[in-house]
Amino acid sequence: MEKLQFKCNIHPSYDINLIRFHKDISQVLSCACCIEEQDDLAGVTSISFQKMIEATQQTYFYNWPPYEKEVSQQLKQQLSNFFTKMDDMNQKMINDVMSFFQDLRDQIEKKISSVQQKCIKFIQQQQEQESNLVKEYNNISRKLDIQKIINDDSKSIFQKNQELKKIVDDALEQKPKNTQKIQKIAKQVESNQQFNLSMLERVKSQILSNLDLFNKQMDNQQNKDYDLQQQINMSSLSQILRNQFNQFSISFIDSLEQAISSNFYLFSEIFQQPIFKKEYININYDSLQDHHYTDILKLAQLISHLPNNKSKQIQSYKKTHNLINNFLNRASQKQSVQNLLMRYPIFELIPEVQEINEQKIQLLKSNYNQSAQLFQIYNLDTLYPQVDYTNQQLQAFCDFIINPSLKYIFKIEISQSANRQNLQFGFGLGRDTLINHNLYEQKLMYFSDGQWGVDKVVKGQNLTQQEISRNIHFYTIKLCILENIFEVLDSVENINVVSINQEITDISKFKDLRFFVNMCSNYKKGDWIRIQQIEIVKQFI
Ligand SMILES: [Zn+2]
Repeated sequence: MEKLQFKCNIHPSYDINLIRFHKDISQVLSCACCIEEQDDLAGVTSISFQKMIEATQQTYFYNWPPYEKEVSQQLKQQLSNFFTKMDDMNQKMINDVMSFFQDLRDQIEKKISSVQQKCIKFIQQQQEQESNLVKEYNNISRKLDIQKIINDDSKSIFQKNQELKKIVDDALEQKPKNTQKIQKIAKQVESNQQFNLSMLERVKSQILSNLDLFNKQMDNQQNKDYDLQQQINMSSLSQILRNQFNQFSISFIDSLEQAISSNFYLFSEIFQQPIFKKEYININYDSLQDHHYTDILKLAQLISHLPNNKSKQIQSYKKTHNLINNFLNRASQKQSVQNLLMRYPIFELIPEVQEINEQKIQLLKSNYNQSAQLFQIYNLDTLYPQVDYTNQQLQAFCDFIINPSLKYIFKIEISQSANRQNLQFGFGLGRDTLINHNLYEQKLMYFSDGQWGVDKVVKGQNLTQQEISRNIHFYTIKLCILENIFEVLDSVENINVVSINQEITDISKFKDLRFFVNMCSNYKKGDWIRIQQIEIVKQFI
């Protein structure tokens, strides 16, 4: 900046270089002579004249303005620190933002270039095939040869005729080979997909609408006050959604999560924090306080006041709503919570009702190792030992062959006798041809104390360890042969799941499986294992 010159009005040949403040000094704008001629005065405050002229919003004068003496020193230092830091911080933030966007641009550019390359390569490959077809046609049609013969003035008509006749004969002879050759290339070319620009257009508009999220976030940041008024404590709702009860299959949770993340734009407006995390937590409905209900009501109001176009957007996510609806329907044990959640317009759609058919239960005795005489079937559904364990396993199986395409839910109950701590038992699948063999050999079993097929821990603790299983009295089993699903859940604690290891075991290849229950060892008279219920459902949720 060019230095501005101001002359002292008392000493006109000298430049003003200081601004001085003191109750006894009337010459505020001072030159060097003014200072020289000044008597010694205590408490004169001087600041640079030049610095004042060049001052911006960010310029800080340590000694200006005057403050109350008691706080003066501290306040000056505080302000000085703040101004210094603010300057650095602002620059740092600007740098951060600039490098953020530079990085984003670079990454986008890189990805787009790579996709562009792919598209061009795709088209070029197709063009190459097309030009191959032309080349091959020209080759076998021998157009050029024919032209050459006709145009050759050195040849007589007779010669030309003869040579052309030879080409015709050759062509006839080559007919099968040529047909095959040209047909093959023609087929390739025909099967080429027309390059689809509209697919790219779709992706483009998705990307652009995602980029709009930046704008939205910025707007939110600027309208902070407005936001604060609307602020909602989402913890109660997100806890409910994040919670996983054992009746939901992992794949159901995954599909719900996927549905929500693919509609992120909508949900980011409704839910202020991530809804799904891998670490699910159980919610204690009794602990919900009044303010939780208030929060949920506030959310409902917020959603109902979304602009109309947003409501349309909401309507278009019907599938997602159904998923959420089903989820909430099952998750909300407390009617009151469910009612509140259902007040949201987004949850208004009627949930699909699960159609359930019950399968009649009848257990039949298996005579493995002549053990049939050692136990009774009681009430068609319960295996009772008649003797204390010596060395025999007791087995019973259902009277029907499992339909591979149906989805079954088995509920099993184990006796709660004093002997329960030592009891070893199992249940699972056995082939129809092997009903009198030992089940464990087929390795399609859940066993309370070891690994026999259904032993991969999907969630929670390992149910195949006796210190865990000895406290479980109810089991739920999800079974679908065709889809290779065989999961065992503990229905009481609702936190543990084991499954067949689908990478090792493929039950879908079997068409003749029956469901078995088994008393393995350490049983006493009075112990029992019972199939409480068998349901056939449309889907596992
Ligand atoms: Zn002067």
